[in-house]
Amino acid sequence: MKFLSLIFLFLSHGAQAEIGGITGGGGGTTNPSPVGQPLVRRAVADSRMLLQAHLQARAWHWETVIKPNGHVDEDLKFLFDRPDDAFYYLERIKIEVRSNDNCYDAKKNPVDGSIYADQPGAICISSKSLGAKLSELNFEFETAALVMHEIVHQMGGDEDLAKRIQMRTIYGLKSKVASRLYADYSLFAKYLRENAEAVKDLEWDAMQPDPRALQYERVVNRLQGFRDKYAVDLDSHPLAVEAAKVFDGQVLKLHIDAYFAKSVDPRSDAQERAFYQENYLKGFREKDEISLTEYMLNYDGFLRSEYNTTFLTRITSREVLREELAEIRQALLATAQAVEEFLKVQPTVFDKE
Ligand SMILES: [Zn+2]
Repeated sequence: MKFLSLIFLFLSHGAQAEIGGITGGGGGTTNPSPVGQPLVRRAVADSRMLLQAHLQARAWHWETVIKPNGHVDEDLKFLFDRPDDAFYYLERIKIEVRSNDNCYDAKKNPVDGSIYADQPGAICISSKSLGAKLSELNFEFETAALVMHEIVHQMGGDEDLAKRIQMRTIYGLKSKVASRLYADYSLFAKYLRENAEAVKDLEWDAMQPDPRALQYERVVNRLQGFRDKYAVDLDSHPLAVEAAKVFDGQVLKLHIDAYFAKSVDPRSDAQERAFYQENYLKGFREKDEISLTEYMLNYDGFLRSEYNTTFLTRITSREVLREELAEIRQALLATAQAVEEFLKVQPTVFDKE
């Protein structure tokens, strides 16, 4: 029936957009369309956010799959299995960008990036050489991966390890999941705020006589659309914002509340109302408040660990509904705020002409 199929649709992962075929230009000596220095400089500024998100996903893989199963992955072990791990270095990163010179390695050979810079403790990145080598297709992940290469050196890794982790970073940033990194997450935060306000204005019954009025399904569909677009449903969430994990549960709550609203809508016929009421109440099993995990046991869907601590209140009055909607609104606003905080993360960048 409709109720179950919609819940199932919600819980199944949405179709994921593929990133277009990017191939590395390995070995080429000329670049017909160099990206230029300004975009490389922007990529340097974005690198900390990209690497934070990428490392978060890798660390999650290390903590939940590799380490507990006793699998071997020397690269991930090097990055995460120490108190001053990769995040420690990333948090403190300083980057000296050279627009008129190369960087130089320990033997004074010119290179694109190096751990030797004029600024103490800084990584050197040459926008001059990268701007000529990279193209618009690869400058973001190549620049971030080069920064990662230098971080590995700062952590004490040798050239082989630095190159391997650089390649894995390129691969990770190009992969399907990490391609979401390039989505405009400031828009996500903005949409969340707008829709949090819309949640506040929802009413007791599902359909309103005024066709311009907000309806549950419209709001839920929009929020679900954000989840698919910005991949908030993934455990290795690319944005790596803890609060964003709350998002999925809150949208599911709103989805369930929408069925309550249909069960009391006077514009539906009695049979339809009874159907929605029965399905709505079934999950509560006589309780007034229940975790989403428990509620969803009757609906045979994908469960997330966050559902254990996300609670749903059985709607018994307009007052209870208003409180429930206010709670969902607060959680969406908190998610928006956490995303905005995350986007502020920038490395310290020095310019060197
Ligand atoms: Zn190196």
